[in-house]
Amino acid sequence: MSGEMMPNWLYKRAFLSPERTALEFETEKISFFELHERALSLARKLASFPIKEGDYVSFLLKNCPHTVELIHALEYIGAVTVPLNNRLAPAELRFQLEDSNTALLIYDESFSSQAIEAAEPLKSVKAMAIHELGQLAESDFQPKTEINLDSNHTIMYTSGTTGSPKGVILTYGNHWWSAIGSALNLGLQESDKWLCTVPMFHMSGLSILMRSVIYGIPVVIHDAFDPDKANQAIHSNGVTIVSVVSAMLARMVHALENKYPESFRCMLLGGGPAPKPLLEACTEKNIPVFQTYGMTETASQIVTLSSEYMLKKIGSAGKPLFHAQLKIEKDGAIAEPHEVGEIVVKGANVTKGYLRRKQATEQAIKNGWLYTGDLGYLDEDGFLYVVDRRSDLIISGGENVYPAEIEATLLSHPSIVEAGVTGREDERWGQVPIAFVVKNDKSVTEEQLKTFCREQLAGYKVPKNIYFVHELPRNGANKLMRRELIQFLKEDKRC
Ligand code: ATP
Ligand code: MG
Repeated sequence: MSGEMMPNWLYKRAFLSPERTALEFETEKISFFELHERALSLARKLASFPIKEGDYVSFLLKNCPHTVELIHALEYIGAVTVPLNNRLAPAELRFQLEDSNTALLIYDESFSSQAIEAAEPLKSVKAMAIHELGQLAESDFQPKTEINLDSNHTIMYTSGTTGSPKGVILTYGNHWWSAIGSALNLGLQESDKWLCTVPMFHMSGLSILMRSVIYGIPVVIHDAFDPDKANQAIHSNGVTIVSVVSAMLARMVHALENKYPESFRCMLLGGGPAPKPLLEACTEKNIPVFQTYGMTETASQIVTLSSEYMLKKIGSAGKPLFHAQLKIEKDGAIAEPHEVGEIVVKGANVTKGYLRRKQATEQAIKNGWLYTGDLGYLDEDGFLYVVDRRSDLIISGGENVYPAEIEATLLSHPSIVEAGVTGREDERWGQVPIAFVVKNDKSVTEEQLKTFCREQLAGYKVPKNIYFVHELPRNGANKLMRRELIQFLKEDKRC
């Protein structure tokens, strides 16, 4: 391996600023030195198991200091971390354990039945509760105090929105450049404090932990998202940055009574499209929202819209981070401004590929560029607008129809709380859009919704049918799985 070498991040951070707070959890405050000591102790226990350099270790844990200690302990060993989504069913977990060649699965007691059920049929996987690990004897081992940026740090599974989840290989270098790119964009302040209420098993949460040791700033950990608690952390615990997805932000804005203090400088919004009414509500309440675009493959965001452009470029995900590049390709050529094509990105934060999936890797990465499978366009100033996923595109009578646009329209109706749009085969048009909605008001009818859509959308975009359902199919990341909508019709899940 020929990558750049640098000191292990926590090791260096504990040397540079040992007394600074690394983690705040409930009433506990943990300094960088304590975090380093705890991670080392855990690493010695893992070494006695034995876990060695290059082994894959999965975790099924909550947002808590143990999880952070484990991630750093694995870095001291040189083992690869495989974060597992604790909302997955045992069969889904088993797939990821097997696919990643996991040697050890560490779980929180509250997930023991899922963990045991997932791991039991797999001979090569040992499952151990985190408290059992704590009781192991410490063995003598030489912690890795130096890292190679080309070494694998994490196998992070994609959400599985468009197919089965793929194990994304993320190196130390990917995390490093993701953290540096974010700091070059947002700046870094002495008083910064990041709230982590997004899951640590996702890129959004894990990337906060990486930034904390690299920047030397505290992370306030919430084990579950609670809008009041999150608002309180901003109001009275000095939190300056919060990472959110739009559903979380909507609840925080709804619960917000007084404006946030001046010191609060960034609501980092990612994970999916942001509804315009929400962005407008944030502007009204003076909330500095930074919209982002990214994916597991880019180790968190690769494109960000600074809050100063929040209104001027409403709906845009912004511009690529300083070290990153972006282009829009249509039929193999660079698209014109405002012309929709595939979003293609490049940067040192971008994965080198999917674990044991040569074909998928070759399809996605060409000449160092990642073909994201997302459609979007750039405006004349180079701001990115994400349109939809290529795989969800509906072609109706030769016209491109983007489900996301129709969903956004339906969601702007006051009686609609959730919307999902997909294509249905049609003899005349090839495909036609149909919609599934969850309503909050029993009186709204399909005809009223169609009229509402007709006022705002071209005729071919108006859903041919709008079905009322109790809920929409979502994956463990709470993302809408459009490919499963048609099944709703077959199973008659309408209400
Ligand atoms: P899979 O790859 O398994 O289908 P996934 O793509 O949902 O799952 P993630 O890596 O968690 O898994 O999500 C990244 C995707 O989220 C992006 O490729 C894009 O489709 C969507 N996304 C992220 N940011 C935005 C945004 N600002 N606007 C619209 N979509 C976004
Ligand atoms: Mg994806």
